[in-house]
Amino acid sequence: MNTDRSSEISMVHDMLQEYNGVNPILIDRDILRDHNAEVIVHPCNWEGCTMHIAVEHKQVSKHLQQHHGINTSATSEDTQKISCLWTDCLHARMKPGNLTRHILSHLGVRWICSTCEATLSREDAFRRHTLEKVGCQDAKAVVKYGDRSLVIDTVYIDGGWSASQNVMCIP
Ligand SMILES: [Zn+2]
Ligand SMILES: [Zn+2]
Ligand SMILES: [Zn+2]
Repeated sequence: MNTDRSSEISMVHDMLQEYNGVNPILIDRDILRDHNAEVIVHPCNWEGCTMHIAVEHKQVSKHLQQHHGINTSATSEDTQKISCLWTDCLHARMKPGNLTRHILSHLGVRWICSTCEATLSREDAFRRHTLEKVGCQDAKAVVKYGDRSLVIDTVYIDGGWSASQNVMCIP
């Protein structure tokens, strides 16, 4: 990041903070590429992180790569396990390739079976549920987001920020 760019970012940051009286919500600029309407975001509680992440597999994976230097496709036999540095996670250890799904479980999102109302904390667990539970083969998932999730409308993000939503993008 060159200095012009970073001073422009801190200028926007200060302007938003002054306008809204609270720290702006920082999101990855990449989110705009994937969403042209509403997107659900959740605070990233990875050690030292001040950003919000979109609550979906692809964006969580990108965020872990770009901002936390984690190779989220490393799953081979000889891959070293790493510790999850999420606040309140008891430092679960896993291969970096399994971290994205694990972090999704920290984001408060739940999949509720439309047939039996079973609550699953992972999408793959919901899929397995529909395969294994008699009567739930045709069930749909009702997705419920956690209390700390926010809805951001990317339509109103112009030039990388939105004063009304107190949002700014980090390249
Ligand atoms: Zn983060
Ligand atoms: Zn964790
Ligand atoms: Zn069910």
